[in-house]
Amino acid sequence: MKIYIKTFGCQMNENDSEVAQYYLEQDGFEVIDNEDEADVVILNTCVVRKKAEDKFFSTIGELRKKNKKVGIMGCGAEKERENLFRRGVNFVIGTRAIPRISEAVELSLKNKKVAFFDDLLDQIDYKNILRRSSKYHAWITIIYGCNRFCTYCIVPYTRGREKSRKMSEILEEINNLTKKGIKEITFLGQNVDAYGKDLNDGTSLAKLLHETSKIDEIERIWFLTSYPTDFSLEIAYEIANSPKIGRNIHLPVQHGSNKILKKMNRRYTIEEYKELIKKIREIVPDASITSDIIVGFPDETEEDFEDTVKLVREIEFERLNLAIYSPREGTIAWKYFEDNVPRIVKTRRMAYILNLQKEINRKLNEKYLGKEVEVIVESEGKTGYFYGRDIRNKIIAFKASPDLIGKKVIVKVNKITAGPLYGEIIK
Ligand code: SF4
Repeated sequence: MKIYIKTFGCQMNENDSEVAQYYLEQDGFEVIDNEDEADVVILNTCVVRKKAEDKFFSTIGELRKKNKKVGIMGCGAEKERENLFRRGVNFVIGTRAIPRISEAVELSLKNKKVAFFDDLLDQIDYKNILRRSSKYHAWITIIYGCNRFCTYCIVPYTRGREKSRKMSEILEEINNLTKKGIKEITFLGQNVDAYGKDLNDGTSLAKLLHETSKIDEIERIWFLTSYPTDFSLEIAYEIANSPKIGRNIHLPVQHGSNKILKKMNRRYTIEEYKELIKKIREIVPDASITSDIIVGFPDETEEDFEDTVKLVREIEFERLNLAIYSPREGTIAWKYFEDNVPRIVKTRRMAYILNLQKEINRKLNEKYLGKEVEVIVESEGKTGYFYGRDIRNKIIAFKASPDLIGKKVIVKVNKITAGPLYGEIIK
């Protein structure tokens, strides 16, 4: 029985697919990389944006036409639940029920429709799970769920409340991974800074970073995604004190206007956000701050938008993920707020910030010209260039050979763009 897992969305889904693969293989299923040859296709879905949701619905239709058995996991499974059976899906696995995936496949082969939503997170055998996306880098989920309930976001409904993994278990997992060649890790959580708070035993992201830095074989450590009021300065001190922790903090601000932040239920003011950035930059002077921004949120006036523009100019984010607001069914904003910014206005505002950010990127990238940076070689692109990142998460393209993937090299930057930097390996 051949199974193909197709993953949509974020890195947490990537990690969940690895967990699913582990359980399926333990139970004798063959997990393959080719959809056409598979008897069963499992879609690990994302519903954060309407476009992603539409994509997964249309993929179900295509697979049904090819007579494949279809299973759904990920956020789409939680959002749509048994409704998915009406679309011809054979089984549904909730975000916390992955250890039951083989059982679901087996029952579906007997033509039974099953949906499992139990919370089995504590049973997941992380220390034995192989990574399939990279031989030297691993995504490690350290906290599930989110308690923040931003009014536009579906995640607290699909991923549940915050639940941290034990630090000892995570460190054991990392030690096992190092034996398999893993040198670089990224800690994941929808609100990664909240890690440990629910354990009530003093565990924190800062402590986990500290302990992980002591593992000799680990060369780089990243974490994603931060929430401004949960980000403690202890984390910044850990970054400052360890040459292994990536000097990149992804700290989504979402908007520059206090009125809109309140309406989004983001629990900080723009003044508090700016103060936090100032302190982080005092502790880690070369910190690269990246962020997410939504344009066109309900009631966003031209003045509110100008506040966002002002903030972007002032902070000079190293990278911005921009999104046009679209209501997500089931969220507070969908239920109570009118989506009253016209599409054409949203698009204009988005284009304005995109251009502004490009200028900022180019300006910030200029500081790299002629510099020598330490890069871990990650992958070969289609253009004949290899790509890697420096300790500030800056993407750098250069000529290399496949045997260098996963290794550290020194690259001298000789060309800058608003996107990647270009350079040549000098060591
Ligand atoms: S903090 Fe992030 S994951 Fe949590 S509700 Fe807000 S946007 Fe969603």
